[in-house]
Amino acid sequence: MNELQELYREVILDHNRQPRNFGEIEDADRVIEGVNPLCGDRMTLYLKLDGSTVQDVCFKGTGCAISVASSSLMTERIKGASIDETLDLFEMVHEMLTSAGDEPPEELEKLVALAGVREYPSRVKCASLAWHALKAALTGAGHEISTE
Ligand code: ZN
Repeated sequence: MNELQELYREVILDHNRQPRNFGEIEDADRVIEGVNPLCGDRMTLYLKLDGSTVQDVCFKGTGCAISVASSSLMTERIKGASIDETLDLFEMVHEMLTSAGDEPPEELEKLVALAGVREYPSRVKCASLAWHALKAALTGAGHEISTE
């Protein structure tokens, strides 16, 4: 493992051990449940919106280290962002997770730690679960999503 891969691994392990924004928002504007039956990952995403801004975001759930770390990294990154920025971010992350080989854009910052899953197709769903839940929550596409 090279130095960069080691760093990415550390980010994932850190966010799995101590997930950021873990919990519920009682007066959330959007609540959506996401499941990845393939791995058994299950998460609920809570969003508090203020006009066109993600004022607060939390998640709860159980799953593998990749799914928990991805949810944690996502909430950390989108808190305070605009809905437009958040949807752009979804596209960038989705692109990163599904296009092998390309260098991920620098704007992704810490989220590039998730790029490692590209080598493992079954893990892509673990990493993208939270992001699909986020997109569904922001676009009002139901209350539950499944990666299958
Ligand atoms: Zn998983």
